[in-house]
Amino acid sequence: MKTPVANKAVEMSELFKKIINGRGSIAVKLDKTVEMTAKVLRADAAACYLVLDDNYLELFASCGFQKKLTNNLSLRVGDGIIGGIAMSKRTTAVENIWQHPDFLYRAEAGEEKYKSFLGAPVIRWGRAIGVLCLYKKELYEFRKDDVEPLETLAMAFAEWVASDEMRTYKNAFMAKRGQAIRDRYKGLSLSRGFGIGPAVVHRRRQAVTKIFAEDKQAELERLAQAHRQMNNDLDEKFNASKLGIGEHTDILDAYRMFAKDKGWYNKIAGHVEGGLTAEAAVERAYEDMWNRLSATQDTYLKERLHDLRDVADRLLGYLYGDTSDIKTADLTDLVVVAQSMGPADLMDYDYHKIRALILEDGTPTMHVAIVAKALGIPVVSKIKGLYKDIKNGEILAVNGDEGIVYIRPSEKILETFRAKIAENQQQAAQMAALKNLPAKTADKKRVHMYINVGLDFDLDYVDATNCDGIGLYRTEIPFMAAEKMPDVEHQIIYYKKLMDKAAGKKVVFRSLDVGSDKLLPYWTYSGEENPAIGWRSIRITLDRRAILRQQMRAFIRAAAGQELNVMFPMIANLAEFRDAKETLLLELDKEKRRSQNVPAKINVGLMIEVPSVVFQLDAILKEADFISVGTNDLAQFVFACDRTNNRLAERYDVLSVPFLRIMQDIVTKAAKANVLCSVCGEMASNPIEAMVLLGLGYRNLSISGASFSKVKKMVRSVNTGQLTDYIQTLLDFNQRTLRPQLTAYAYDHGIEIF
Ligand code: PEP
Ligand code: MG
Repeated sequence: MKTPVANKAVEMSELFKKIINGRGSIAVKLDKTVEMTAKVLRADAAACYLVLDDNYLELFASCGFQKKLTNNLSLRVGDGIIGGIAMSKRTTAVENIWQHPDFLYRAEAGEEKYKSFLGAPVIRWGRAIGVLCLYKKELYEFRKDDVEPLETLAMAFAEWVASDEMRTYKNAFMAKRGQAIRDRYKGLSLSRGFGIGPAVVHRRRQAVTKIFAEDKQAELERLAQAHRQMNNDLDEKFNASKLGIGEHTDILDAYRMFAKDKGWYNKIAGHVEGGLTAEAAVERAYEDMWNRLSATQDTYLKERLHDLRDVADRLLGYLYGDTSDIKTADLTDLVVVAQSMGPADLMDYDYHKIRALILEDGTPTMHVAIVAKALGIPVVSKIKGLYKDIKNGEILAVNGDEGIVYIRPSEKILETFRAKIAENQQQAAQMAALKNLPAKTADKKRVHMYINVGLDFDLDYVDATNCDGIGLYRTEIPFMAAEKMPDVEHQIIYYKKLMDKAAGKKVVFRSLDVGSDKLLPYWTYSGEENPAIGWRSIRITLDRRAILRQQMRAFIRAAAGQELNVMFPMIANLAEFRDAKETLLLELDKEKRRSQNVPAKINVGLMIEVPSVVFQLDAILKEADFISVGTNDLAQFVFACDRTNNRLAERYDVLSVPFLRIMQDIVTKAAKANVLCSVCGEMASNPIEAMVLLGLGYRNLSISGASFSKVKKMVRSVNTGQLTDYIQTLLDFNQRTLRPQLTAYAYDHGIEIF
């Protein structure tokens, strides 16, 4: 026997089915739906909002309001109580809207007469696509027997909203508003590389249409059978995949365990016992978990929710009997477009053919992104709208380096992308060929070659290049990517990951270098007139000492038992260096007193970026364990030339007498003081400029991963003795640039600078 709650839900579902299968336009059916809902649930008014363009909610139907509301009532997702429901995807009951902190009074909405409110999100594929609302004039506390039937109706309603007829209706509505169809989308890059191919839209998820079971026993058997079959197929699929070992295979193994989890299965079976179909029970079990975990800040648990969604979808596929492999056998290239995806979904395709993956939702820690990256597939996420706009077979060009996707790209874009793909393939081959060859010049001088790391991607170059370590870790990049200032614990996670990846190789941590062109999204900047020479970098962290202290603490803890190298950016004089170093040493003392496990050795250095330190170098070299020249900033200050200003990009050259004299001065003094001196600015990543650095006496270069092999080729082909002599003669020439002479020299001496 069904409970009264279930009765109301059944009644509404039946009535709704009649409405949408009956006669009348979509507008009429929407009106009838809200009228029916208000009637069955004894509300005084009802409204239905649908999400358009992912960003705003538009009122499509209402009843019970004094004057009939028009179709021009919209609000942004996140705004007010209704926008909040679409954002949080949670049902919300409010006894008195007028006292609710999020209530947004809109005169045109005609809500004046109403006090209590109930709103349920209309969810499809994990995304709110609408909100169903009920209002009562009196103060009233909406209860379970109102909430559950409304939520059940919302499930069936979601299916209709996503139907082709509704999509056409909504598109026509948007077209009336003059919304153009886009062909270039900007998202977030999760895995680098370029890819071109026809779109394959990954739409495996099925919506639940039948909610109540007729025969419980039969339903339980169907569930057991689908669950068994799914797990057998997963075992077979993963065992057949030759994926190597690594984090990605751990993820796939964890996923398999998840699919077999007894607790999850029993929950679904429990819902079937309660009267739901197996499909509706799978959804309910997911929703229960979503309600419990969605508010968590814990990224691990969030990823578990993604996995659960994926396993639930997979099980739904088996319940619907839709386990057919995606028909891509005839294609040689494919660009998979998904709203969201689990790691196992990727294995549904022949992954050798996947040229790129586009996810409407997705974060760098998302499991499918990690697996795709391990397979060398470019991934772009957070591309809103593409998933619903794209059709199978439409050509896409994906730039995974910058997170850009083109639909139906022009021949010119295709040409550029093809060239990029070829270049990347060539680079990968070159990297592999050079990987195990020594970084020694033709005259047998050993050059230490490190890489610069900012994004997680860069870490891949540690193995790919077989470098000597990480010469510059730009710690501000994870700070810039985060939504709020990472605390010590979160920082330790980043830094440990780096240490682990370096596996005993040297790592140089740079303290936070923000301000100027590197802004943190969660900080308000005062908008200085000359930010590059303003309150930035070490100037900020010395003034906001807590940030510096926390970062030092995180470095110390992450490098416990190992060597820790810390350098400070934008130091302008010895006093600043002492001040910063003191902060690190104080934190070290504190950690020791707490009898924490501290680093085995600590080296403290600074970046040479501000010209004033060059004039105080002798004194500084007595107190620094190492120095690293940041030629990007140093050049901008030496030439008084904004490094971000395109108009000045070609005006001054680092390969010129003033700059090379400074560079020579630095390396000579450091050698005399026996202090390790490296270059981590872009000069080290450009083969001809790096060649000149070797000629000046530099033997430590920290290079961007992508340029590593080009520079290594140059290193292995140069004879530094002859070059040093030649550069000395050039330092008396006073042209604007010495580049033509140096390029000619490289050609004449067979030095590989391309
Ligand atoms: C530099 O200035 O050369 C440098 C390496 O630092 P960044 O580019 O991060 O400012
Ligand atoms: Mg700099």
